[in-house]
Amino acid sequence: MIETITTSQEAIALEEKFGAHNYHPLPVVLNKGEGVFLWDVEGKRYFDFLSAYSAVNQGHCHPRIINALIEQAKELTLTSRAFYNDKLGIAEKYVCELFGYDKALFMNSGAEANETAIKLARKWGYTKKGIPANEAVIVAVKKNFHGRTTTIISASTDPSSQKGFGPFMPGFEIVDYDNVSVLEKVLANPNVCALWIEPIQGEAGVYVPQDGYLKSAEKLCRQHNVLLMMDEIQTGIARTGKMLASDHENVKPDLLILGKALSGGVLPISLVLANNEIMLVIKPGEHGSTFGGNPLAAAVVMAAMQVIKDEKLEENSERLGKVFRDRMTAFIKKTKMVKLVRGKGLLNAIVINDSPESETAWNICVRFAEYGLLAKPTHGNIIRLAPPLVITEEQIHECCDIIEKSILEFEK
Ligand code: PLP
Repeated sequence: MIETITTSQEAIALEEKFGAHNYHPLPVVLNKGEGVFLWDVEGKRYFDFLSAYSAVNQGHCHPRIINALIEQAKELTLTSRAFYNDKLGIAEKYVCELFGYDKALFMNSGAEANETAIKLARKWGYTKKGIPANEAVIVAVKKNFHGRTTTIISASTDPSSQKGFGPFMPGFEIVDYDNVSVLEKVLANPNVCALWIEPIQGEAGVYVPQDGYLKSAEKLCRQHNVLLMMDEIQTGIARTGKMLASDHENVKPDLLILGKALSGGVLPISLVLANNEIMLVIKPGEHGSTFGGNPLAAAVVMAAMQVIKDEKLEENSERLGKVFRDRMTAFIKKTKMVKLVRGKGLLNAIVINDSPESETAWNICVRFAEYGLLAKPTHGNIIRLAPPLVITEEQIHECCDIIEKSILEFEK
């Protein structure tokens, strides 16, 4: 018989006993979500200020996305790509037209999409750029976050991602983020096939590069015949006030990597988009995934993207992001607890004025939860604040009240 959980303690105890370690969760047990709200098993309501790391941009359990899921689930969920299905082609056309690329390759998790992009970049490097076999180099940047597979963590500079998991995959060169002069040097190496960056480093603590960095990176990539491989898994799908964060600088990546909010948080769906001269380097049988491109995912992606457009969530994110930062900028002048606020659209972070090793940010997040708002620290003293994009202006103000009140209590 399947047990039912009625208290938070029961759920936490079960996970402690039977679940492996991966994340370090706040002690809140959730069982319902709707729009910007989450509820715990005791019935307490919270504003969600994490949005499942920006996977739930459209809000929890959006009725149109859930309906697409249910209707498709009643017909057909998975065929594998050993056969065609009647939904995938429609979804591929939809996303290619939406983002302006020739071809789409559906995968499942964000890490898998990044892995796929790495394979495409390397194969392109050998077959189109003429890089000698097995010598392709991908340039990555410090403090990146692209997922947790062994290849991806080989390019990580975060000890908690890497320590104890070696040996690592060769073929990555790591340079400073937000530094154009370093790119001028490193991209000149003829063995470099791709530059692999996030337009804003989300996991690192919402690091926004200087205006012009992305455009310069794009220009240098073109100049040196290097692919610009952009991981928009966290920043994409309207999170930063435009459909893609790259759009802020009119940058068009050669390989666009998407995940998370592609499904509105309903299924793991990820995607790599590229034009033919890149995508066609992988031949039939050379790449695949049992679940990638399943008809359920195809139906969900189209509904989730249509919600972004119909509900004008790009505009909401842009407008309310400004409201949020204005409030926080005014607030930090009144407190010594917060060093700075930064972000774009509704992807923001506040940096707590304490060492990254301190527990202060964690304790502040616990206090937020007591007052009905869920957020989590990243890298110790940084708190990312990223609500679903369906939030209203009134709710943003209500949440700023909670954030300010909680932080001020730590000043005493
Ligand atoms: N890339 C970026 C920029 C991310 O933020 C994340 C997850 O947080 C990933 C990749 C990995 O995605 P997933 O957890 O779906 O593998």
